[in-house]
Amino acid sequence: MKQASVAIIGGGVSGATTALFLGERGLKVTLFEKEPGLVSGPPFCHLHAGGNLYRDISDEQCITLLRQSIDFLRFYPFTIDYRPTVIALPLTDSGIPEALLPRLKLLRSEYEKLVGEDAGNQVLGKSGDYYKLYSREALEALKQRPSVAQPAKHDEWMIPAAKNIDLDKVQFPLILVQEYGLNLFRLSAGVTLALERVANVNLKTETVVSNIQENCYSGTWNITYVQKDQARQENFDYLVNAAGFRSGKIDDLIGVECKRMVEFKAAYVSRWENCCDTRWPEIIFHGERGTPRGMGQFTPYPDGYFQLHGMTKEITLYEDGLVANSIVSCQPHLKQNFIEKIERSWSPEETGQRTQNAIRHLSRFIPAFSRAKVGSKPLFGAQQIPGNDPALRVAEVSFPQKRYARCEIVKVSSALDMADAIVKDLMALGYLDASAHEHKRLTKTLESLKETEITAYAKTVALKRDYPASLSGRTVPQMP
Ligand SMILES: Cc1cc2nc3c(=O)[nH]c(=O)nc-3n(C[C@H](O)[C@H](O)[C@H](O)COP(=O)(O)OP(=O)(O)OC[C@H]3O[C@@H](n4cnc5c(N)ncnc54)[C@H](O)[C@@H]3O)c2cc1C
Repeated sequence: MKQASVAIIGGGVSGATTALFLGERGLKVTLFEKEPGLVSGPPFCHLHAGGNLYRDISDEQCITLLRQSIDFLRFYPFTIDYRPTVIALPLTDSGIPEALLPRLKLLRSEYEKLVGEDAGNQVLGKSGDYYKLYSREALEALKQRPSVAQPAKHDEWMIPAAKNIDLDKVQFPLILVQEYGLNLFRLSAGVTLALERVANVNLKTETVVSNIQENCYSGTWNITYVQKDQARQENFDYLVNAAGFRSGKIDDLIGVECKRMVEFKAAYVSRWENCCDTRWPEIIFHGERGTPRGMGQFTPYPDGYFQLHGMTKEITLYEDGLVANSIVSCQPHLKQNFIEKIERSWSPEETGQRTQNAIRHLSRFIPAFSRAKVGSKPLFGAQQIPGNDPALRVAEVSFPQKRYARCEIVKVSSALDMADAIVKDLMALGYLDASAHEHKRLTKTLESLKETEITAYAKTVALKRDYPASLSGRTVPQMP
């Protein structure tokens, strides 16, 4: 079989994971990335193993997120922060905790099924422990207990929540669920180190793809790219569009049909000095998206850093932050102030203002957190959402033209199903033989990486991008 050549445009989670899948299966891969490093697009911090942060999505999407997250965790275990998530419904919320229980029970039984199919899927603790409910009485009792420096059991994780949440402002029960964190700097480090070891992957960073032409006679894609101010051209058999929120530009160059949205969002980094004699779980305060009471997310990192989301227009969401494409172009147009943030920088005033808004938003429920300060510049970016449903959370890839894959993940954990589908398409085209699918979840390159090298590289990535080194760390590095 002739060794097929594949061009991948974009080195985010989608493009980098695809490069690893295809490179390890023997294809000749060129990965084009505009930025100096891989995985430098929009941020992520939640694995979403069950999608419990989204009350508005279907059970089906939650079950898919659960399965995809388990696969992702098994594939990239070094990216996971093994701490649970606490879900609280404020008194002001229109929902009630009991309404969440049918889905939690469903997810628990789906998890049990997955573990039954393959014992290796037991990566979120025992299925019977997927979630636990806490009454006010139970929390009042936990409040009296000393904190445990390295919590392991659910009750031990719940102690800092019980001591610090204003229990007069939330409904009961509170729910603890085995939803873990996901570290973007460690993913960037691990996948970069891995790709550098795959001989047939050519990593072209600081390189922009500027034009694409299809040669129908030879069945190849002619790609023009600019590297160090020099334009060059090369031919490829297969093309993967993994350009994230700029995917529409690539669709426009090819001339395929499309329907998509792009959303700009930001999360804020705070520092709460001397806060913690223990590790914290993630804490979610549900709320109606886009209103001043939008969901608040309190995500712990080592050394007193907390990443904050607030689903209000003054914090994470923005007026005009969500845009759709038009009939004349596949590329939705974000206003210039968002592009300025992505391509240049934030003003210190806006960083200060929005981070303080986020701190206030979370301090409504964790009063002592009002002492926190700005920790660094925000984590931010634009992401694509295929179709016209802004609440869509599960999407993988489409093949709008022969020899052309368009990646369209909304959540990071969908990247493996996406890469599998691309492998299948390449098999159908005769570029890969049937054995390609057998190694579905194996990557000898990732397995060869040492924890110490990932940790050191992740720290360098964080510092190079002007974030504190602590953000490259995990509060719980090993599976409990
Ligand atoms: C604030 C925020 C929080 C989020 N939190 C989570 C979370 O907790 N969990 C989760 O699962 N998801 C989360 N997401 C979504 C997640 O970040 C995205 O789904 C994911 O990063 C998309 O990855 P990607 O590889 O498809 O795209 P990207 O990461 O955007 O990668 C595309 C890459 O293509 C490059 N590129 C574009 N055009 C060209 C070109 N012409 N030539 C060369 N290179 C090009 C870009 O530089 C970029 O690096 C969040 C998103 C935001 C905005």
